Amino acid sequence: MSVLVTGGTGYIGSHTVVELINAGYEVVIVDNYINSKPEVLDAIQTITGKKPRFYNLDVIDKVGLKKVFQENKIDQVIHFAGLKAVGESVSKPLEYYRNNIDSTLSLLEVMKEFSVKNLVFSSSATVYGEENDFPYVETMRLGTPTSPYGKTKLFIEMILKDVNHANPELNVAVLRYFNPIGAHPSGLIGEDPQGLPNNLMPYITRVAAGKLDTLHVFGNDYPTQDGTCERDYIHVVDLALGHLAALKKLESHPGFVVYNLGTGKGISVLELIHDFEDVNHLKLNYVIDKRRPGDLPAYWADASKAKRELNWETKLTAKDACRDSWNWEKHNSGK
Ligand code: NAD
Ligand code: UDP
Repeated sequence: MSVLVTGGTGYIGSHTVVELINAGYEVVIVDNYINSKPEVLDAIQTITGKKPRFYNLDVIDKVGLKKVFQENKIDQVIHFAGLKAVGESVSKPLEYYRNNIDSTLSLLEVMKEFSVKNLVFSSSATVYGEENDFPYVETMRLGTPTSPYGKTKLFIEMILKDVNHANPELNVAVLRYFNPIGAHPSGLIGEDPQGLPNNLMPYITRVAAGKLDTLHVFGNDYPTQDGTCERDYIHVVDLALGHLAALKKLESHPGFVVYNLGTGKGISVLELIHDFEDVNHLKLNYVIDKRRPGDLPAYWADASKAKRELNWETKLTAKDACRDSWNWEKHNSGK
């Protein structure tokens, strides 16, 4: 089986490529390095002993994409490529709509031309919007994501549903990720945001490494156990394995299917900080700051559908993720 992985040198993509290669898949990556680096390919080779075929290409570029499908027999596609910074999407909505939506349209058109029928798409818990109560269940009516980034995920889900409706032969697994953290235990691949990190874990590791002074905890007056926001943090290796489970599911021609990929448990910002301190035997310099606009107090996944239908559930803990993120930060991040 050969799998085309768009965005395969990115954070979640690279971890998924490693698991795909380990499971015996032939992998072809398309990425334009807009948010990743060529070194990731060497790291994948060091971990797996195999270098995947790679195309430096914008997924929007249909001519280039067709060449990829001509030169390789693609059986299945995992579509990670996309811009993902929530805050940036508010100031650059056109870039986000153009990149995320056009890349998906180009990919779908080329897949149709080459009769490739199985697609896994990276969606996000953000599609549940503010309207729903947690835990989020796949059957909920979707909300209205506040950011243009979140809206691209919602729109793409709708596009995929329509395309599957018109062509039921196309099997689509929409995976709604919760909060991916952690890194490969080798420390060779991980999350490497450029500039000031927006997300909690890369901020924590940079403070621990002394690259940033102080971690700001955004609000401790939420209606949660300790007053800080609660999220469903999922180890990126578990998340990667969820994609393999989804590919297997697609082989049974299920049509359009949606799965939450999360642990099913929420933990607070302070709990994550303390897990990080405990497992890595260090102290983090943090202060309580005001709330960050747009943050929801708490949400996590109902992950039972993925367990039932994909036979997938998380095995790694937040502490595992804290250990692996720190290992990655110490050895490689920012190189
Ligand atoms: P990432 O930025 O690390 O990876 C995305 C990769 O896609 C990068 O390597 C980037 O260079 C590439 N890319 C972007 N646009 C491209 C284009 N037009 N053509 C070719 N390559 C392109 O992000 P990630 O965290 O690995 O996320 C992967 C996917 O999962 C994204 O679609 C993201 O929106 C989604 N997602 C991520 C999270 C998260 O917290 N990390 C949560 C929910 C959903
Ligand atoms: N957070 C924080 N300080 C930071 C970054 C994030 O306190 O420097 C909090 C944020 O308010 C949220 C949680 O950590 O409650 C997770 O934030 P992140 O941006 O990682 O993911 P999101 O919740 O936006 O999906």
